[in-house]
Amino acid sequence: MADDMDERFGWAWDLISADPARRDAAHLRLDGLRMARAAAVTRQEYEEASRRLLPDGLWTGSWPGLARVPRAVRYRLLYLDWEMRFPHEWAWHAKSWRTKTSLLRTFHQHVDELSGWIRTVLTDLVLLAVDRPHRLGDERYARLARVLADDALRDRLRELGEHADEGVRLRAGYLTWVVGTRGLPEPKPSQWREYLMRQGLTEQPAERHLPILSQVDGGRVPILVRCPRCAGQAEVACATPPGPDRAAWRVPCSHCPHTATRRPEFKQGNRWDGSAVYDPVFRLPLWLQQPCAGRRLWAYGTGHLEAIEQHLRARVRLADGGAYLPAYQVELPDWMMPLERRDELLAGIAALRATVPATA
Ligand SMILES: [Zn+2]
Repeated sequence: MADDMDERFGWAWDLISADPARRDAAHLRLDGLRMARAAAVTRQEYEEASRRLLPDGLWTGSWPGLARVPRAVRYRLLYLDWEMRFPHEWAWHAKSWRTKTSLLRTFHQHVDELSGWIRTVLTDLVLLAVDRPHRLGDERYARLARVLADDALRDRLRELGEHADEGVRLRAGYLTWVVGTRGLPEPKPSQWREYLMRQGLTEQPAERHLPILSQVDGGRVPILVRCPRCAGQAEVACATPPGPDRAAWRVPCSHCPHTATRRPEFKQGNRWDGSAVYDPVFRLPLWLQQPCAGRRLWAYGTGHLEAIEQHLRARVRLADGGAYLPAYQVELPDWMMPLERRDELLAGIAALRATVPATA
């Protein structure tokens, strides 16, 4: 069979575009392909639809000769690159840890057959992995680092070992150790954890973010409100960590002398009926709110707003026309769910974000 990889996956480069609108269009295309497969009646239709899906279609027709099918290799690298650059979007649209690890294992096994450009891309991926929190399957990048190691890679790792961010320094230090120590067993997930333990550290799981609303509830992220005195933007936050005493919440305004402190016994929620919304402690109107589609679009702060946007962009369309929205970080009301409302919501989010100074 002729290689039709470009015809099947040429659009997929948009998955790693810097332009959110292009990525968005690619996500919708992928969702459409998934719907087409769900609608398949015959086995042949199902297989044809699978060939066009990510990651399913990556395996078709070219296994295992890595070096002989450069086009297939490009799209396999693209899949890895996507996981690296946009892990959230990757996770909701085409997550397959098994594909990630098998791809990396195959590159590792066939490293001697790989042409120069493939080694370069893989080396870049190893370095990108240093630059972001450790993820499932990353031990395969450590294995690759050992077989790809050259002076340039060692130099880059040494530079990253001086990075301002502690996580980057640690991951670079780990890889430097893995690459430079002869006789070390092949990297496993436990090896990275042991490396941290020897430095007296344990890793906070990167995949499990606290839900944004419980962070707001605990006062760990500031809530943007309208100051009751000057109507400027002020921040509500919890000044003391939760403990035996009731936590003190404060709202100092940076534009005027207004300041208030409360140790709330209860916190008040908001009505979701389109009326104005307030912070849970001082009941000051939230800064980020505006009418939208006959309801009210609002967020406690910029992080909350961003979480809403991510989830609007990340949801997966279901075959019956409904939408599945992953809700581990934010829960969205039903009125936000229809896909045809999404552009209006995204425009509203952009308008709200524009009211917050860049430093906030
Ligand atoms: Zn004020």
